[in-house]
This record gives sequence, C-alpha cells and structure tokens, in this order.
Amino acid sequence: MNYKKYYSDFEAKKLICEIGKRIYNKGFVAANDGNISVKVGSNAIITTPTGVSKGFMTPDMMVKMDLSGNVISGNRKPSSEVKMHLRVYKENPEVNAVVHAHPPVATSFAVAGISLDKPIVPEAVILLGNVPVAPYATPGTEEVPDSIAPYCKDHNAVLLANHGALTWGKDLIEAYYRMEALEHYSLMLMYTNNIINRANELNCSQISDLIQIRQNMGIKAGGQPPCKDAGNPSSPIGRESEKPNQKENLAEEIVQKVTENVLKTLNRGDGK
Ligand SMILES: [Zn+2]
Repeated sequence: MNYKKYYSDFEAKKLICEIGKRIYNKGFVAANDGNISVKVGSNAIITTPTGVSKGFMTPDMMVKMDLSGNVISGNRKPSSEVKMHLRVYKENPEVNAVVHAHPPVATSFAVAGISLDKPIVPEAVILLGNVPVAPYATPGTEEVPDSIAPYCKDHNAVLLANHGALTWGKDLIEAYYRMEALEHYSLMLMYTNNIINRANELNCSQISDLIQIRQNMGIKAGGQPPCKDAGNPSSPIGRESEKPNQKENLAEEIVQKVTENVLKTLNRGDGK
C-alpha cells in the first residue's frame, strides 16, 4: 500500500472475500454477522452485502457506495451497519478500511462494559492501544454511528456494548490484524485473572426495539426474554459500568429497605 493510496475496485472485492473467510473461519462471526469495507477513492468504498455469511462471499456480491451512503453499483443491498463504517471514514480521513465482527471473548468484555486498557503485552499496547467501550445502541439506527464517533480519531478499535467490536486502519490488512490482535489480547486478559463473570443485560425498552426489528424481518418465533426496566443503574456504558460492587450494594440496600417496611407493617398489624 506504500505505492498507491487506494486499492482498485477489483483488488478491494477480492481482498474483502479473503478477509471475510478468515474472520468466519476464526469464529469471529456467526451466521451473517459482521461487515467489512475498504476505501477505493476519496469518496467511494466497497463493502459487504447484507444477509450473507462472511465465509461464503464472492467478489460479484460486493456493493460500491459513496461516503454519504448512496449505492453507486452492485446488485445487493449494503448492511445497515455500514453506517458505522461511513462514520469512521468521516471522522478520520486517514482510515482506509474498517472491519466489524463479534469475536466472542472481546464481545464478552463488551457485554460486561469493560474497556481493554491493561498493559499486559507489548503488541497490544503498540498495535491496538486502549480499546474503550462505546455505549449500547439499537442495531440499524443512527445511534450506532453516534455511539462510536467520539473514538474514531484517537483510537484504533472500539468495543460496542452488548454487540461486538470495530477496528480500522490505513488498509484492510491493518484493520483485520487489529481485529485479530483485539481477540487475542482479550483472550489473554481473560486467562490472566480477568474471568469476566458479569453481564450488563439489555433493558425492556432495548429488548422491545429488537423484537420490533425481528418482526419487521418476518421472524415470528423466538419469544421475549425476561428483562428489567430502563433506568437500571448498571447500564452498559463504558467505564461507568466497571463497578461490580455498586449493583450488589444497591441490591442489599433494597432488601434492607423492603425488610424494614415489612417489619413496620407487621408491627402496625399487631396494633403497636
Ligand atoms: Zn454487528
């Protein structure tokens, strides 16, 4: 990539298929998860289509778009998550490729709301740097690009709360290596006494948005998971949620208050 700034459309399409196979074979995505994009001009990208496994793509499936999100060519629709990619290119003009996947260990840290910033190996410090957690946003909405925008300039990767990971770079190889490094680093963090053992669950309003999306997709089965109301103090927002004791203390407080009230009521019942 030193000899020229952008890949040709053909090179980009072939390389995206190759990287798609790798993220699929490594288990960084399941089913049709994930998306990849590459800049092929100052106002053009090639990106992966929606509804296709990243392990089974061919160059003719790719979509060409401008940076405002208009499709220039291709027979398929781009993923709704391409909005995230477009936002990275907008916020940081030095970026020429973006990779989004759901690697399981890194995503578990994202579910727990734990950012990756422990300096345990040189490669992670050099290649990745600190990886913050962007707040949860409903898939497909404008909230998603808004949630990552603050991190695009000063970081190389971001965890997406209750969702997955996003990496970028000056070319697709660099963006892909950062995704590999991110999962590798997460695995080492987990093995070295950071067994996560915590999950920030989606609240009822977030769940109902997802059920609506599911219905729009024509999926009728699946049921509704139990959930807690919004306003839950353990919302998955980056460092704010890195306080496991807070929740326990709150639970204890509630139990104590309830117990006190019950005792009071009983006492009143006794006529005291
Ligand atoms: Zn995703």
